[in-house]
Amino acid sequence: MNNRKFETEAIRTQTERTQFLEHSSPLYLTSSFVFEDAEDMRASFAEEKHRNIYSRYSNPNSNEFVDKVCKMEGAEAGFAFASGMAAVFSTLAALLNSGDHILSAGNIFGSTHSLFNNFLPKWKISHSYFPIDDLDRIESQITSETKLIYAESPTNPGVDILDLEELGRIAKKHNLLLVIDNCFASPYLQQPIRFGADLVIHSGTKLMDGQGRVLAGITVGRADLIDTIYRFSRITGPALSPFNAWVLSKSLETLAIRVDRHCANALELAQFLEGHAQVNWVKYPFLKSHPKFEIAKKQMKAGGCVIAFEVKGGLEAGQKFFNSIKLLSLSANLGDSRSIITHPASTTHSKLTKEERFVSGISDGLVRVSVGLEHIEDIISDIDQALQ
Ligand SMILES: *Cc1c(COP(=O)(O)O)cnc(C)c1O
Repeated sequence: MNNRKFETEAIRTQTERTQFLEHSSPLYLTSSFVFEDAEDMRASFAEEKHRNIYSRYSNPNSNEFVDKVCKMEGAEAGFAFASGMAAVFSTLAALLNSGDHILSAGNIFGSTHSLFNNFLPKWKISHSYFPIDDLDRIESQITSETKLIYAESPTNPGVDILDLEELGRIAKKHNLLLVIDNCFASPYLQQPIRFGADLVIHSGTKLMDGQGRVLAGITVGRADLIDTIYRFSRITGPALSPFNAWVLSKSLETLAIRVDRHCANALELAQFLEGHAQVNWVKYPFLKSHPKFEIAKKQMKAGGCVIAFEVKGGLEAGQKFFNSIKLLSLSANLGDSRSIITHPASTTHSKLTKEERFVSGISDGLVRVSVGLEHIEDIISDIDQALQ
């Protein structure tokens, strides 16, 4: 990264201007690109020239989005995908061989969990889960087949925090790749490469879009690894659509100010819930009561948009609470300008067994709120009336 600040790069990183000297980046809805002549076409396919050939490989809109996220994360290179899960799957499928082992945090996104449990074993890629409360135990789970460490922080949906610096140290010591899903923090709050991550994955669907419109994913990090991921992906075709890339690149211009407000609203709601008589417990990374508050402060700029809490009275009280919500959306997304409330046990993590849910820290009464950008007094009063 040069010495421009995060906000400036988010706004000023732009694909080359055309002869029309447009101010805002145009939308390049084209599946392919033309060549000057036979020699130009030969040299382009031989990769003697770096240029756009076909939008499954690259496109000016995706390139702009990728360049921006690379600057935000301090990464060398990246590739953009049609969804966060396409980024997770393609990254692992490109880098791992049959027989390899993934050492993953137990608390990970539900679909990633299902990918590890139900699909990667088809190609003899195995995994084991380490308990996130006890990173000292990771080293004893490393085998000669282990190729990478995989984790999220903050975790979904429990908003637990993992010490990224410690994970980076362990990965380096054992010559393993460290892959971090940074979706919950966004690059504005946390840059895992600074702590030793080799690759960073995002679902662009969440805070990056921030307005609940498009699906997207991206992987950024070490250029040699991204090259392998690119070669796999240009053949298998999970590329991001230029339209979605254009939407996202515009959204990133306002990421910093949006996330600042998300975090301010979330902290205020978390503090309100902490004193509430109908609530068993509240977890938010920047509450002093969070067990990893000091680590969160070390690696994050603010606490993020997601709060986890448990309503008193178990499943029945929880359902009554959900049915009483008026303003907040009952929806599966997060990082949206609209506040969203979910019940992980019956939705995002319902494909897991109760046992697996327990390992992932998901109780029946767990509520996840993605705090949006509405006025905080309206958010608090809706949750308060539903709790009453
Ligand atoms: C949503 C999410 C994903 C998957 O992203 P999609 O864009 O929905 O495919 C992966 N990881 C985390 C942490 C997520 O929240």
